Amino acid sequence: MAKYVPEPFRIKMVEKIKMLTKEERAQKIKEADYNLFGLRSEDVYIDLLTDSGTGAMSSDQWGGLMQGDEAYAGSKSYYNVIDSGRDIFGYEYIQPVHQGRAGEKVIFPLFLSKGKYAISNTFFDTTRAHVELCGARAIDCVIEAAKNPAVRAPFKGNMDIPKLEKLINELGAENVGLIVLTITNNSAGGQPVSMENIKATSEVCKKYGLTMEIDCARFAENAYFIKRDEKGYQDKSIKDIVREMFSYGDIFHMSSKKDAIVNMGGVLGVKDGNNPVIPNIKANCVSYEGFYTYGGLSGRDMESLAIGLQEGIDEDFLHYRIGQCEYLAAKLDEAGVIYQSPVGGHGLFIDAAAMFPQIPYNEFPAQVLAIELYKEAGIRTCDIGSFMMGNDPDTGEQIKSDFEFTRFAIPRRVYTQAHFDIMADALIAIKKRAGEIKRGMRITWEPPILRHFQAKLEYINK
Ligand SMILES: *Cc1c(COP(=O)(O)O)cnc(C)c1O
Repeated sequence: MAKYVPEPFRIKMVEKIKMLTKEERAQKIKEADYNLFGLRSEDVYIDLLTDSGTGAMSSDQWGGLMQGDEAYAGSKSYYNVIDSGRDIFGYEYIQPVHQGRAGEKVIFPLFLSKGKYAISNTFFDTTRAHVELCGARAIDCVIEAAKNPAVRAPFKGNMDIPKLEKLINELGAENVGLIVLTITNNSAGGQPVSMENIKATSEVCKKYGLTMEIDCARFAENAYFIKRDEKGYQDKSIKDIVREMFSYGDIFHMSSKKDAIVNMGGVLGVKDGNNPVIPNIKANCVSYEGFYTYGGLSGRDMESLAIGLQEGIDEDFLHYRIGQCEYLAAKLDEAGVIYQSPVGGHGLFIDAAAMFPQIPYNEFPAQVLAIELYKEAGIRTCDIGSFMMGNDPDTGEQIKSDFEFTRFAIPRRVYTQAHFDIMADALIAIKKRAGEIKRGMRITWEPPILRHFQAKLEYINK
């Protein structure tokens, strides 16, 4: 039995949450067309929809809000983000943007266009969408071990290096616009990427003259896993590990709503301050985000971002955070609930295909489980499976995802041990009656891209 790692903080402010009855919840989710994104948050007891922008800021960060310099150009808060970013990542050019996908919108069109390809260990959904918006195609190239949730291997987020080289040769290096390394590998279950693999990916990029872009929303969690599990890193500081990780890349973009523990914000960086792409990044930033010294953020947001970047790499915090996931995972092991194992950084990815073997991918087993969790205990999770993957942009056919995960994304510094016990109990209760659910869901309406945020669904047998 894993022990719960005690919080390295105490609580200064609380937020009330309410609990509805099971009947009320069944009605609420029906009214939301069985899309968890359509629920009002006040109708949710434990909100695990995402760990993005849902963390609890520290008293230092809240204090920082009052120090924000709201100047249009050259504000003090902008320089604080640059100093904090340079200190952590070792990149010369640091640019605030309003969130992760804004970084994608600024960077990707500079490398991708119709006929080009981008290859990643696994693309996150907005990242994939931005590749496609450029007219290019996104190819996932994660190691095979990642595709079997029950296989307990370290660094299941890794890029498949031989396959990457084969793909580059098949497509022609001149047609590959970008190699994107997602750290940690969100869609593969928050699985980390090893230092060895980061380095090997970078060597392939150098060999073929390709740009290596790091999508690093959870870089600090990744560094923690390297320290814990990769030979030779046990005595290094998280900061030194982060520095080495980024030394292998050329450009990065980060959703700071994750490991920098802010409610809104993003950063991008370019290692070489003389890289000719920088003026174009600034130009895109001015067009889409705002002047490059604020990048769509208020001064106060930049202030809390500069502080949060440093808090996110604190080792006591990371130990507690990863420990929360391990605590829940140990309870699921006892009950035989299968999840992407070993447990990843920012949450648990429950194997819904294993829970509901009777429900095929095109009836969205992971969405079925997400709905059951809400009805059972007011827990809001989401589908990371075929429902999220959507349709093939060329054929319009439903894509079959490698995984049918229901994601428990854990907000940072928000929920306590008792909440984790409720999560485990709900999953165990659903597993006991899983066989009673015979069919899945069908989509009654969907938008053309990123459909899972808005699509409407209904039960097939009701
Ligand atoms: C969250 C996330 C993004 C997008 O960031 P937003 O801040 O939500 O726009 C991109 N890539 C990864 C890996 C992410 O986790």
